[in-house]
Amino acid sequence: MRMYDIIRKKRDGGTLSRAQIAAFVRGVTDGSIPDYQTAALLMAIYFNGLTDEETAILTDEMAHSGDMVDLSPIDGVKVDKHSTGGVGDKTTLIVAPIVAACGVRVAKMSGRGLGHTGGTIDKLESIPGFCTSLSNERFFAVVRETGAAVVGQTGNLAPADKKLYALRDVTATVENTGLIAASIMSKKLAAGADAIVLDVKTGSGAFMKTVEDSEKLAAAMVAIGEHTGRRTVALITDMDRPLGFAIGNSLEVIEAVETLQGRGPADLTEVCLELAANMLALGGKGEIGACRALARETLESGRAFDAFCRMVEAQGGDSACLKDTGKFERAAIAHEVRAERAGWFAAMDTEAVGECSVVLGAGRETKDSPIDFAAGIRLVKKPGDRIKAGDVLAVLYTNDPAAAEPAEKRFLAAVRIGDEEPAAVPLIHARVDVNGVEMF
Ligand code: URA
Repeated sequence: MRMYDIIRKKRDGGTLSRAQIAAFVRGVTDGSIPDYQTAALLMAIYFNGLTDEETAILTDEMAHSGDMVDLSPIDGVKVDKHSTGGVGDKTTLIVAPIVAACGVRVAKMSGRGLGHTGGTIDKLESIPGFCTSLSNERFFAVVRETGAAVVGQTGNLAPADKKLYALRDVTATVENTGLIAASIMSKKLAAGADAIVLDVKTGSGAFMKTVEDSEKLAAAMVAIGEHTGRRTVALITDMDRPLGFAIGNSLEVIEAVETLQGRGPADLTEVCLELAANMLALGGKGEIGACRALARETLESGRAFDAFCRMVEAQGGDSACLKDTGKFERAAIAHEVRAERAGWFAAMDTEAVGECSVVLGAGRETKDSPIDFAAGIRLVKKPGDRIKAGDVLAVLYTNDPAAAEPAEKRFLAAVRIGDEEPAAVPLIHARVDVNGVEMF
């Protein structure tokens, strides 16, 4: 089968067969297709799209391009959760322990941050001693003992996606519904959970900038999950502003702890409770209303915080830092950013704020860049707030003396202060399942 013919077919708007998609994924995985041909096909897909069937086949082939994790040694329904990526998104650290404390198992593989978005694995590694690479036996044992474990993806989980994602990143072909759906769902299917809750972010800090596009992506992923026998639900949640106030690895762990202790920001708490409730419903804990009450009660009782401490200890982490977050190392520089004028905090370019946290050292410019766990941003004001000239909008944390000023410029450029009170934005837009879309 010639790669040239596959590219030409898609370029001309044709539909690829299973044999063609399988040959493509095989060639990407074993390195026999040169990057220029892969990139050409990705661009043809970007412009002409994939049918639902092509997307399902691509997902399946990518999932089977490496290891398929078998979670059957762990009893009960295993429920996974996945966010499409955002800024200040520390939901896994809160949701996994809530769900585990209710008796539903979470055996989760997470990623690192890249670009403007943070990654759960980096956040967890900011806890001294926390180990994110466990053998399968130890991974399963931690889930059995504590109800939840979160580890990094093994090198051989959907290796075709790893190669394709790296190429998409540098050829401006990330933002395509079929490609994103196949990329995310191939990893979820390979990771072995029985049921999946997707947090599809929408807005200026997300890959999908509009609710309509996010709905299409959510529906595509739900269809793939259900088609392959995994109960799948997606929530479409706001990423027009960061979630909570903390951006950056240990800053986000501290905010997650505060949330698990019932002192967290309202937006973060609400999104986490809704994600947890949907995971509990898929895990067989009853209908969604009862699961919402169960999730809230588990958070408020402190049982979720205890479950988080148990998981952290079982993965080698120092839970003393969670019980006294003052033990986390602090950045040497805390730089206040002040409002240049009075008015209403009208809007925020959330992607640019995420990039600002990378400049401070909280994220990576490339996948091998070092990370400063203490670096990041603590927002003091958010869109919708009334602002006086000179008010502190945010505090920037860094250990790099050269970073604070350029980061401040970026932050101020990302913020719009206007004269009108902005319209309130819903935090959770919709829930998508096999039956369709339910608007909130
Ligand atoms: N996250 C992924 O894993 N893949 C994409 O294509 C986009 C976001």
